[in-house]
Amino acid sequence: MMRLPPFRFHAPETLEEAAAILADKGSDAMILAGGTDLLPNMKRGQHTPKHLLTLRRISSLRDVRNGSGLSIGAGLTLTQLLSNQTIRKDYTALWQAAKVVATPQLRNMATLGGNICLDTRCNFYDQSKEWRKAINYCLKKDGDTCWVATSSKTCLAVSSTDTAPALVALGARIRLVSSAGERVIRLEDFYNNDGLDYLNRRADEILSEVILEPVSGWKSTYWKLRRRGSFDFPVLAVAVAVKFTDDGTVEDARIVLGAVASMPMLSTDAAEFLIGKKIDDEVIRETGRIAAKIARPVNNTDLDPPWRKKVIPEFIRYALREVRGDDISSLRQRVAHQSRS
Ligand SMILES: Cc1cc2nc3c(=O)[nH]c(=O)nc-3n(C[C@H](O)[C@H](O)[C@H](O)COP(=O)(O)OP(=O)(O)OC[C@H]3O[C@@H](n4cnc5c(N)ncnc54)[C@H](O)[C@@H]3O)c2cc1C
Ligand code: SF4
Repeated sequence: MMRLPPFRFHAPETLEEAAAILADKGSDAMILAGGTDLLPNMKRGQHTPKHLLTLRRISSLRDVRNGSGLSIGAGLTLTQLLSNQTIRKDYTALWQAAKVVATPQLRNMATLGGNICLDTRCNFYDQSKEWRKAINYCLKKDGDTCWVATSSKTCLAVSSTDTAPALVALGARIRLVSSAGERVIRLEDFYNNDGLDYLNRRADEILSEVILEPVSGWKSTYWKLRRRGSFDFPVLAVAVAVKFTDDGTVEDARIVLGAVASMPMLSTDAAEFLIGKKIDDEVIRETGRIAAKIARPVNNTDLDPPWRKKVIPEFIRYALREVRGDDISSLRQRVAHQSRS
């Protein structure tokens, strides 16, 4: 049986109290939200914090406020998020992404903040300590070689969060709170394309809130490729958000690929190509071709990297057809094992 390493447990009741503990303990402390990723990682020896700080008692982190746009507390569980009808109707890509995270039981515990901060994944890393010891560990933890690309000086572990690509496509911003103050940044700026140092987050910062802009004129969708429909991490994710004018011309667009690098990849070239056009089949084909260029899937997840790259234009095609208004629900069910909503 894998056991948790020893740690001191802290259960603050306010954000200020939590921030003060983090300021005091620094990188010796880690935040525990739902624990569905962190606790298994601790059992595998990937993280060994001396202090664990749960956010569970801070009720303000579960608030959802609807004003100009939407503010979602980082402590909201994915099950709670899925029951929110505004998110379901107006921020469809986020709702669809949350719906395909793990299993219902895990979504009851898992939080939005934990999903955004999810550790990057790799077949050589997500293993027991004994397994990793047998290969002399790797660059991401306790070793000095990357077994995926032995000449690589950086870790290529994969960003495997479902909600982050959707939120980046929706233009989300996040609030980070610490004893020193707070900052609001665009979610895409929260990530580095580095499997080891994948977050632009100081050890004393708490992700408190996700901020979404009003959605008038925007449509969005999320498509996930995985081996099993019941549950599996993404091996490719496509999130698309498009703003249409009244005559169906694309006024603005954001196209994001997940699980093809160590961060969600925003294809500005593909979005720029779309803007000012109507989404016909030829435009869809070309957008898919352009967006796929930024993806560099490597051999550290399920399914073959060249095949994962090859199907990207297809997944973008599905997403764009869906935001254009085509009924492709049977295709979604068959290909992505998902219902639309
Ligand atoms: C069997 C299984 C299948 C899974 N499948 C999927 C899947 O398909 N897709 C997917 O995206 N995930 C999947 N997961 C991973 C995980 O369940 C989810 O990503 C979940 O949303 C993580 O949220 P959590 O609240 O449990 O995070 P935790 O495990 O509590 O934390 C995760 C990380 O985020 C940090 N953190 C948490 N909250 C904050 C905050 N507010 N501020 C700063 N840092 C914070 C923690 O310190 C930790 O580093 C799966 C997990 C399991 C066990
Ligand atoms: S990509 Fe390389 S360094 Fe990163 S976890 Fe995998 S084997 Fe380790």
